Amino acid sequence: MFGSMQNVPLLVNGILDYANINHNEREIVSRLVNGTIHRETYGQAHLRARKLAQALQALGCGKGDVIATLAWNTHRHLESWYGIAGIGAIYHTLNPRLFAEQLSYIINHADDKFIILDTTFLPLMEGIADEIKNVKGFIVLADAGEMPDTSLQNVYCYEDLLDAQSGDFNWVDVDENAPCGMCYTSGTTGNPKGVCYTHRSNVLHTLVANSADVFALRSIDNVMPVVPMFHANAWGLVFAAPAAGSKIVNPGPNMDGASIYQLLTEEKVSFTAAVPTVWLMLLQYLEANKGKLPDLERVSIGGSAVPRVMLEKFERDYDVSVNHLWGMTELSPMGTIAQFKSGMEEMSFDQQMDIKVKQGRAPYLVEMKITDDDGKELPRDGKAFGHLVVKGPFIVGEYIKGDGGEILDEQGFFDTGDVATIDEMGFMQITDRAKDVIKSGGEWISSIEIENIAVGHEGVAEAAVIGVVHPKWDERPLLIIIKNDGADVSKEDMLKYLEGKIAKWWMPDDVVFVDEIPHTATGKIQKLILRQQFADYTLPNTKQAAE
Ligand code: AMP
Repeated sequence: MFGSMQNVPLLVNGILDYANINHNEREIVSRLVNGTIHRETYGQAHLRARKLAQALQALGCGKGDVIATLAWNTHRHLESWYGIAGIGAIYHTLNPRLFAEQLSYIINHADDKFIILDTTFLPLMEGIADEIKNVKGFIVLADAGEMPDTSLQNVYCYEDLLDAQSGDFNWVDVDENAPCGMCYTSGTTGNPKGVCYTHRSNVLHTLVANSADVFALRSIDNVMPVVPMFHANAWGLVFAAPAAGSKIVNPGPNMDGASIYQLLTEEKVSFTAAVPTVWLMLLQYLEANKGKLPDLERVSIGGSAVPRVMLEKFERDYDVSVNHLWGMTELSPMGTIAQFKSGMEEMSFDQQMDIKVKQGRAPYLVEMKITDDDGKELPRDGKAFGHLVVKGPFIVGEYIKGDGGEILDEQGFFDTGDVATIDEMGFMQITDRAKDVIKSGGEWISSIEIENIAVGHEGVAEAAVIGVVHPKWDERPLLIIIKNDGADVSKEDMLKYLEGKIAKWWMPDDVVFVDEIPHTATGKIQKLILRQQFADYTLPNTKQAAE
């Protein structure tokens, strides 16, 4: 007996088709690299994506080719993803914040055939042109009048390419398991590794992202993806927003507080998503300018842990609901989201913040558990912490070209490299990256938890905690702090502030004040560099401890 349902493949281009038919007049608003605001409809984006598909075919691209994008969030970048996927090719997002050597490594490793890029990134490409000889040409996201001089060879103007096509085009037929998109991990150690999403995995991720306990996007929402399309598949929003028929508001290159605030208010954004650093800039701007957020209902924050002060400010001072999200490039990227369960909406504000500060619970299609070093599952009691492993149809099964070897365990779970607790209600909390966790006397100390509490001190702009070698305990925590401008904070003030907020044996052995903390291309603290910087650091009292 066979099932009697239609076997329609799950393809991402069907999402733009849907938006074209059902939400044709809904807008995509973009701040361009030249600063102007551009507006078009889903209907226009649909036509232009098909024109790009024709243009790419005319340039000799087809099924299975990898076409890179190096661009800010704009309508043209969105059209590019759909145009590329629509000929059965693979969009590959390049992160401009990577070092030049990493970029050329990635471009060669992925075998990129063409690179579609914003004018801002031409110098970056010119700098590595000699290293990326297999790239056949560059498509500049500009109109003819804006085309800058460049030493690059085989350069095409995006708008000219589109103007030469009719748009009378049917998306190329592909299997739903065909490759569709590609993204490399930020790679704090060793070379970046590539993850390749399929049409099916992207569509399933879209359905889950739009479910009521996740982003819950609706056609009446105005959605601003501040999270760049060049990081972690744009958290799936390039697919989720058109699938819901939401208006999209693209911030382009301007992520400062004033520019984000302008779009949030003028475009009446109801849902937005980004990493904590962006929201720190916005909150500072709001405070300095007595700004209000009357239209914003929900903000999803992830990529790094949300500090409790940030969470409380959004919720209490601006009446915006925060959904803490945890994800990874390898997960398309969503893994968990902190949404209430029944009964939690009745809790006190403080209890609710205790829940929302956690990274959240797994949606349908994400299986997760924590394990000890031998792979044995640990209890869901909110206390035991272990390796966070995940399984599901939009979670990586292997890296591109088999890099890293076999990455799934016998049951098919992927080790995220994060260390976490899971509580009785299923809420996961990240305590560290496995390589950053501080091992003191055989027990683990969470650097992230101490950092999050430390940034709550009014004199602290940023905090990092690393393990420093200790003769008796193996490692002890060192708290590294950047002070706020003009703040007068001492080591004693910091230790007093932490007292009672963390276990006694978690108390940092020392506090140092610095001007700078190194970050990765995706805004995460580079603990490896910090550990190198403080490799010879001697903690106070280490001599007595050794005796
Ligand atoms: P990426 O693939 O660059 O997005 O990096 C994924 C990693 O970022 C995860 O494995 C976590 O270590 C970290 N991460 C993402 N979201 C969060 C979060 N909400 N809290 C703490 N760490 C996070």
